[in-house]
Amino acid sequence: MNTARTIALVRWLTAAAALCAIVAVYHLWLHVNPTTVAFSLLLLILALAARWGLRYAVVTSIAAAALFNFFFLPPIGTFTIADTQNWVALFAFLGTSIIASRLSSRIQEEAEQAKAGKREVEILFQVSRELLQTGKVAELLNAIPSCIETATGASAVVLYISEGKKIYFSAGVGEQDLERIDLEAATLLPRIATSENTGWSMVPIRVGVKPRGLLLLKAGSLSDATMEALGSLASIAIDRAEALENVARSEASRESERLRTALLDSITHELRTPLTAIKASASALISTERISTDDRREMLTVIDEESDRLDRLIAQAVQMVQLDSCETHMDLAPHSVADLIENARQACAAVLTGHPCEVHLSHDIPPVLADPLWIERVLCNLFENAAKYSDAGKPITVSAARKDAIVAVSVADRGVGIEPFEQNLIFDKFYRGQSQRDRVSGTGMGLAICRAIVEAHHGTISVVSRPGQGAVFTFTLPIAEGKR
Ligand code: ADP
Repeated sequence: MNTARTIALVRWLTAAAALCAIVAVYHLWLHVNPTTVAFSLLLLILALAARWGLRYAVVTSIAAAALFNFFFLPPIGTFTIADTQNWVALFAFLGTSIIASRLSSRIQEEAEQAKAGKREVEILFQVSRELLQTGKVAELLNAIPSCIETATGASAVVLYISEGKKIYFSAGVGEQDLERIDLEAATLLPRIATSENTGWSMVPIRVGVKPRGLLLLKAGSLSDATMEALGSLASIAIDRAEALENVARSEASRESERLRTALLDSITHELRTPLTAIKASASALISTERISTDDRREMLTVIDEESDRLDRLIAQAVQMVQLDSCETHMDLAPHSVADLIENARQACAAVLTGHPCEVHLSHDIPPVLADPLWIERVLCNLFENAAKYSDAGKPITVSAARKDAIVAVSVADRGVGIEPFEQNLIFDKFYRGQSQRDRVSGTGMGLAICRAIVEAHHGTISVVSRPGQGAVFTFTLPIAEGKR
């Protein structure tokens, strides 16, 4: 016997037992007037209507009327009624109990409908909140079936997208479950339909009036309206994710166009100065017949220095493009911070002439995970800036200290410093300090390169500065614990 039948049987037996109990109590022990008995029976009938529905209440009413007549209306012990008044009483009892049962069961049905409605609204709210969280189409399409399955308690959910004929399943569902359904044809259905032989509810989803795909559910308790709303929600979420991706794509292409232009402007501008100097010195060397050894040396020095500057500039542009396109591979391995700093100092020895350079390292610095070539570039950029933006003779201090799982390396100078509003901007590509851009040559690429390199090491870079008193640039590197 299945569960529903067992439940029904138990209910019928309970109703009969309760009815018999009331009749027995009043007939055998408590001798009260028939009105009290009628009210007690009415109470039982109302309780049955409210709990189990009209069916139980109506049948029990009829049985109660018969028993009431037999045991409590004179002549007692027969189904005949002597007094006409008692006929009225009997029919009043029967009528009242049936009408009251109907009202009571209708209230119960309405309460259940309201409860189901509330649950469905909650489901729609939960699904909309979850689907609107992701802005990536691929991620969203994969998430839709399981999200709807979890929220609705459906046993299986499938999303079919006509474009590319792609199918997304919730857990435990496979293509074999859809073998008997013509998915493409079902996308053209005018509204929700249920496949008789497979049990799938099929909700066509559209973009405007154009079919987009199909949402298939096995969720017996959901109303058609809710399933259609779920289909619309899925479609809106896909539209939204597609729109977001389009915006991101066009923003990325605009940004890359902007960077290309800025890079070109910056390079053209910065190339001109060294090229003019080189050209002037070279022309003078060629055209002047008698030229002193000192002058010749000076002109050759200009050519040498300016070619170095050009070389640096081109190297910076190349690094920036590489870092931007994520082509760069960081060879992260454990390295001593002292060695990294020393190598950078040696590589930038020319830049640091004229600035006493002190190094302060705390004694407990463990090895860090770093690519030494790239970290040398970070340190050299910071050394060059420290030298460039402070007067000759001002010291440059390099220090390093451990902080939990990272090591912070700082380069401090006593130069012009940076205005507070510019302290974040200077790490942006091509940004040059307002007070420096016309006084000191530069490209605005150095710190952007530093930031990209440090971030590729899972670190951060920042500056603390007081205008007129100098700046301290600090970047962090992760400790290489257990990686030796
Ligand atoms: P560049 O030096 O070529 O202009 P950077 O990206 O290296 O480009 O630096 C960006 C800006 O940050 C500089 O134009 C300058 O205004 C400011 N800056 C960088 N380092 C320092 C420093 N040590 N002291 C003062 N200002 C600095």
